[in-house]
Amino acid sequence: MKACLLRTPGRIENNPLEFIEAPQPAPGNGQVLVRIHVCGVCRTDLHVVEGELPPKKSPVIPGHQVVGTVEQAGPGTERFKTGARVGIAWLHKVDGTCEYCRRGEENLCDAPLFTGYSVDGGYAEWIVAPEDFVYPIPEKLADEHAAPLLCAGIIGYRCLKLAEVKRGAKLGFYGFGAAAHVAIQVANYWGISVYAASRDARHQKLAVELGAKWAGATTEPPPSQLDAAIVFAPAGEIVPAALKALRKGGRVILGGIHMSDIPSFPYELLYQERMVRSVANNTRRDGEEFLRLAAEIPVRTHIQVYPLSEANRALNALKNDAIPGAAVLQVQS
Ligand SMILES: [Zn+2]
Ligand SMILES: [Zn+2]
Repeated sequence: MKACLLRTPGRIENNPLEFIEAPQPAPGNGQVLVRIHVCGVCRTDLHVVEGELPPKKSPVIPGHQVVGTVEQAGPGTERFKTGARVGIAWLHKVDGTCEYCRRGEENLCDAPLFTGYSVDGGYAEWIVAPEDFVYPIPEKLADEHAAPLLCAGIIGYRCLKLAEVKRGAKLGFYGFGAAAHVAIQVANYWGISVYAASRDARHQKLAVELGAKWAGATTEPPPSQLDAAIVFAPAGEIVPAALKALRKGGRVILGGIHMSDIPSFPYELLYQERMVRSVANNTRRDGEEFLRLAAEIPVRTHIQVYPLSEANRALNALKNDAIPGAAVLQVQS
């Protein structure tokens, strides 16, 4: 099969992904084999490719926002029929036995496997995954529009849940990429006003088009005090700025898997019961709830489609803020 392989992490400007012929995987016990239609491009892929996340498997095929069809069900499977349209996301598998899994917090599992990081992912024509960690894709959502929902969408949804904002609340978004452009649609659907801060004018423009009450630079204070803020950008210097914009008791949620160091800041920014909390991965329940909601709203993703062979180009564009919305790799139509 055709695939994009990462042998050695390196700067994306040097195009570290190789477009190669790789062996087609075979489904093991409890796994399904999926023919990939499209795979979304996530900032986490960039962190994997550039080595900001320490390698778990090498070489590895990145990609964890897969939409495709089940072509073969392995031994011991029963959930999907051949031809079922499904999605595969970041969480490939958990042990199911650690204290976090037993507590219903499988996103914090002690021994998780991640798609496109600990196991091969979706920058390829075929993939295998445990059927228990595969999502049915609602009919309403087209392949290329569903792909960015599988990580950007689900993580944004978990950020919204942890922000604990109610109808009428004022919510700040710092960074307005793939996750934020989906999360704003959910927030608006829930009657929450979004104030979007981004370093990029194109992203500010998209935020306003999608219903943001205000859009400005990350350093600019929003016109209203915020009940909560979500930091999607991987830039630690934003955290004090976001805290400064909060009302008493408000919280800042950090949506990324990797972030540059957070600079020191005066305690008074945190005092008055303000809170900073990170988001790690998601549970399958988050994914199922969100996909149902996305079909109900319905969420419309803004996408830029690249052929599979041009994954490096898509990741370069992502790094340079040149993608309004989300990038998607077209594997098969
Ligand atoms: Zn576990
Ligand atoms: Zn992701």
